[in-house]
Amino acid sequence: MTRPLAWRRAQLGQLALMLRAEADQLTTALAEDMGKPEIEAWLTDVAAVRKDIEGIERRLDNWTAPRHVRVPWTLRPGRAQVVPEPLGAVLVIGPWNYPVRCLVLPMAFALAAGNTVAVKPSELAPATAELLAKLLPSYLDPRAVVVVPGGPDVAQDLLAQRWDHVFFTGGGRVGRLVLAAAAPHLTPVTLELGGKNPAIVDHSADVDVAARRLVWGKFLNAGQTCVAPDYVMVDRRAEGPLLAAMVKQVNKMFSDDPRTSGSYGRVVNEAHMARLAGLLAATKGRIVTGGTSLPADRYLAPTVVADVSWDDALMEDEIFGPILPVVSYGSVDEALAHVNAGDKPLALYLYCEDSDLVERVVAETSSGGVCVNHNAVQLAVPGLPFGGVGASGMGAYHGRAGFDTFSHAKAVLRRPQRGEVPLMYPPYGRLKRWVLKKVV
Ligand code: NAD
Repeated sequence: MTRPLAWRRAQLGQLALMLRAEADQLTTALAEDMGKPEIEAWLTDVAAVRKDIEGIERRLDNWTAPRHVRVPWTLRPGRAQVVPEPLGAVLVIGPWNYPVRCLVLPMAFALAAGNTVAVKPSELAPATAELLAKLLPSYLDPRAVVVVPGGPDVAQDLLAQRWDHVFFTGGGRVGRLVLAAAAPHLTPVTLELGGKNPAIVDHSADVDVAARRLVWGKFLNAGQTCVAPDYVMVDRRAEGPLLAAMVKQVNKMFSDDPRTSGSYGRVVNEAHMARLAGLLAATKGRIVTGGTSLPADRYLAPTVVADVSWDDALMEDEIFGPILPVVSYGSVDEALAHVNAGDKPLALYLYCEDSDLVERVVAETSSGGVCVNHNAVQLAVPGLPFGGVGASGMGAYHGRAGFDTFSHAKAVLRRPQRGEVPLMYPPYGRLKRWVLKKVV
């Protein structure tokens, strides 16, 4: 039932339709869950996802077509193909920070690949979870798609079942539990995790451009973005101008009172507010802008902290909130050594005008992806695989990688009944052995 291309196309069309027709309801739910500004929610969690789904529809014929592979002459005549087949029943577990995108997009790829899908939205974005639980079954084929709302217990119950693939987006702690739960069934797992994404600002960078892009990337969704720059490492020569430019940009984007800005979001809940306040209390750095919070409103000002040392509290774990520490370095070797000493990040950012340095950073570091002279936008290039490496995750999606993640690449070799030189069959007399050794 889920295999015919017409069925897959119909599901993708319905998903795109849902994102168009229900955009207002979705952005309202996102605002309720984490105060996402309407246009930001629409762009990142609704419209961009719809565009990606429309891209999947356009490429479906190409991705599903069997791919021909060259047959070595020793096995000719023959025809070899890679035939993508659905994996079966897949489970998608989503996070709260982009609760539509991180649930609906993996689901779209799973359906495009011909699977049935169960999705579990995050309980920490309850308005969105409830809305998706209502909308998805009404737009999609209810025989092939099920939404299972709930928290960790529900996720564990689901993980105890046998799935053909589990696609998880969230933090590394739960990612480990997901991997362990999948192991008894030998279920393949994709882990889309997070981590501390470094942004290196070289002295050759245009600091105004870097500041504008960093401030945007960091404070989007109040810093609760997996590909946000977690911290900045800046060449000492550019430190002063960069800090000044960032303060200016914060003011420009969110006014001198970001609490009243319609363009600034909120921290998701009290627990995360308390965690972030704890980080600010513990840092030995100097707050150059922000720092104020209003827990009742789950508001934490866009905050930039300078003079941060490598062993500061802000440099331990993924910050996942609107706090941007800035560490200065004397030589880029120091910055690269720091990156290479830690977990492999989901994204690495580099601001510079020096193409040799770009090549060096790409060659000498490992991360899910690299974006030069911008941040976060790499995931908007549909053809680029999106995923982590090492502690930032395993597997990838977006574009062809998304289709491949939810497909098995089946190897098929077709040989005719007649027409072969019977060299491979025993008995191996002297002549056959001589010929085999000569020709193979
Ligand atoms: P999380 O790991 O706390 O939760 C994710 C999902 O796991 C939720 O649906 C939750 O209900 C479920 N869960 C929680 N405890 C569980 C348990 N014990 N067993 C099974 N399931 C359980 O993550 P989060 O707080 O929702 O999201 C934030 C993290 O996600 C950050 O680290 C961020 O970087 C990362 N993230 C990554 C991406 C990406 O695409 N790589 C995107 C968004 C967020």
